[in-house]
Amino acid sequence: MAIRTVVWGENIHENTNAVVRGIYPEGMHTTIANALNTDPSISATTATLQEPEHGLSEARLAETDVLTWWGHKDHGAVSDAVVERVAKRVWEGMGLLVLHSGHFSKIFKRLMGTPCALKWREAGERERLWTINQRHPIAAGIGEHFELENEEMYGEQFSVPEPLETVFISWFQGGEVFRSGLTWRRGAGNIFYFRPGHETYPTYHDVNVQKVLINGVKWAYNPEGSLTGITDAPNVPVEKALEPIVERGPRLHQAGEAGYR
Ligand code: ZN
Repeated sequence: MAIRTVVWGENIHENTNAVVRGIYPEGMHTTIANALNTDPSISATTATLQEPEHGLSEARLAETDVLTWWGHKDHGAVSDAVVERVAKRVWEGMGLLVLHSGHFSKIFKRLMGTPCALKWREAGERERLWTINQRHPIAAGIGEHFELENEEMYGEQFSVPEPLETVFISWFQGGEVFRSGLTWRRGAGNIFYFRPGHETYPTYHDVNVQKVLINGVKWAYNPEGSLTGITDAPNVPVEKALEPIVERGPRLHQAGEAGYR
C-alpha cells in the first residue's frame, strides 16, 4: 500500500498575493502533493487551514502515515485542539515533514519544546544546499550540493534541540549559513525539517527540492503502524507485579485510582 500522505497548506498568500498566486495558482499544497504523487509509493492528498478542523479530523489523521506542514502568515489561527491531535499522532508514529516557515508553527514548537527562532532576510539570494550526510536516505539521488537561485535567507542560530541527524547545511550569498535539513524522533514519530520554500519564489517546482520531499516522506514513514497507548500512564497494582512483593510504607493513591495529569 502506498504511503498515505497529507500535504497541509496554510493557503493564505496564494489567495492574497498576486506574485504567490502566479507561481502557485492551485496553491503550494497542490504543487507539493503533485510532486509527491509522481512517486508510485506515495499517495498524497491535501488539507488546508480553511477546511473544517483544518482538514485534519481524528478520522483522517488515523489514516495518515505522513503529514507535511507549510504555514507562514497565521500560525495562530491553527486550533490548539488540532495541534494536540497531530502531536499525539506523531508520538504514535505518524511521520511529519515541517517545511520552511513552518519552523514557527504551533505543532513544530510543541514537538521541539524550544523557540525555533532564526535570522532571516528576504532578498532573493542564491542558496547552496550542501549534502553533509550523503548516505542518508533523505539525500538519495541528491549530489554533493544543489542551488536555488532565489531564496529567502535563514541564518543561525536556529533555536531547536540538537537534531538526531543533520542532512543538509545551506549557504547564502550574504554569508550566513543554516542547518537546512534536520531530523528528530518524538515518541515513535520521525520528524524532518526542510528549510527552502519561501512562497514568492518557485522553490517547490525545483526538481531537487521535490526529490528531497519524496525522500523525506519515505524516510518519515513508519511501516510498523501506530504505537497506540503511548500517552497512557497505567498503574501496575501490587498483585500484578511480575515478582511477588509485599506493599510497604505509606501511599498516596487509592487502589484503582487514576494517576494525576
Ligand atoms: Zn519565507
